[in-house]
Amino acid sequence: MKDKYPIILAIDTSCDDTSVAITSGAKILSNVIASQVEMHRKYGGVMPLVAKLAHHELINPTYLEALKRANINAKQIDAVAVTQGPGLAIALEVGIEFAKNLSKELNKPLIGVNHMAGHLFSAIAANSQQTPTPFLQVLENLDLKSTKDLFPALGLLVSGGHTQMLNVNLNYKYDFKINVLGQTLDDAAGEALDKFARLLGLGYPGAPVLEELAKSGDPDKYKFPLPMTNPGDLNFSFSGLKTAGRHAIEKSKTIDRQTTCDLAASFQKAVIRAIIYKLKRVIKVKSFKTLWLGGGVANNLSLRKAIRQFAKEHDLLFLYANNKRLFSDNAAMIGIAGYFQYYNENFIENFADFQRVPRLDW
Ligand code: ZN
Repeated sequence: MKDKYPIILAIDTSCDDTSVAITSGAKILSNVIASQVEMHRKYGGVMPLVAKLAHHELINPTYLEALKRANINAKQIDAVAVTQGPGLAIALEVGIEFAKNLSKELNKPLIGVNHMAGHLFSAIAANSQQTPTPFLQVLENLDLKSTKDLFPALGLLVSGGHTQMLNVNLNYKYDFKINVLGQTLDDAAGEALDKFARLLGLGYPGAPVLEELAKSGDPDKYKFPLPMTNPGDLNFSFSGLKTAGRHAIEKSKTIDRQTTCDLAASFQKAVIRAIIYKLKRVIKVKSFKTLWLGGGVANNLSLRKAIRQFAKEHDLLFLYANNKRLFSDNAAMIGIAGYFQYYNENFIENFADFQRVPRLDW
C-alpha cells in the first residue's frame, strides 16, 4: 500500500555539503550527506569553485545512495524538491540543474525550497523511532483548535551564515505565514564562533573544537560586550564581539591551553548571551506558544541548554531536531519543507525561469 504522504526526493547543495534525501511527510527515509570538509580544510574556509566541482562529482552517487538507503526506486518518487537559496551561487546551481533534469526525466513536479525554511522545519522532523511530533499529530487531525496551542511560533535559526528570529503562523492546514522579526546585520553567530576559533588556532571548522575546549574553561574569565542593546531593536550583530574577541587574544601574553579554554568559554558565553537577550526582548513585545530551533549552531549543547531554560521560564513548548545531522545543512529538512509546498501545489511551472537566488529572503 502506498504511504499517504508523497515520496519527496530532496536536494541541498547550498554550501559545502552535497546532500540528497528521501522524505515522506515529516518522516526521513534517507538523508545522505557527502561532506566536503576535508577538501576545504586546507583553505581554512569554503572555496566556492572547489565546492562547485565537488558537488558535480558527488551529486549523482549521493542521489543513488539516497535511493538505496531508503530502499525505493526512482519511479516511486512523487516530487523533486531543491534548495533555491540562500547559498553559494555556483553551488546552488549544481543542485538546481540536477533537480530540473530529474524532474523532467521522471515527469514529476519540481519544488523550489528556501534553505532557511528547511532549517525551520527541521524542528518538526519525525524522531528516529519515526513517531510524528506533537505538531504533526495535531495537523494530521486538522484540528485547528489544537493548533492554537502551537501558534504563533517563535522560530530561531542560528547557522554559519544566518541568525534570524521568525514569527511563524498558520492560516489553515500547511499554509504558513512567516516573517522575520530580527536578524543579524553583519556576521552570523556561527560565523563569529568559527572566526574566533580560527584566531585561537583551532583550525577549520573551529566551532565544534571551541565548544569542546570551552567545557574546561572559565566562562567568566573574560568580559565581552553585549551588542545591540538599543531599546526595541530585535536585530543581532556579532562583528563587535568578534573584534572584542580578537583584542582579548592579542592582550593575552601567553596563550597556554588553560587560557585557550577560558577564552573559548567566555566567548561562547557572550554569543549565547547575545542570542538569549534578543529572545527575552521579543517575548516582551509578542507572545508565542512554541519555540522552534534550527541551524548548525543548534548543535552547541550550551546554547540548547540556555534556550531550553528560556523556553521553560516563558512556558513555551521547545521543538528542535532529534538528530544532529538535521541541524547542519542537509537535504531531509528541504524535503520536509517541500512537503508543505507539495500539499499546497506550489510547484515550479516554468523551468527556464527557475534559477538560483543566492540571497533569497523570506
Ligand atoms: Zn544552512
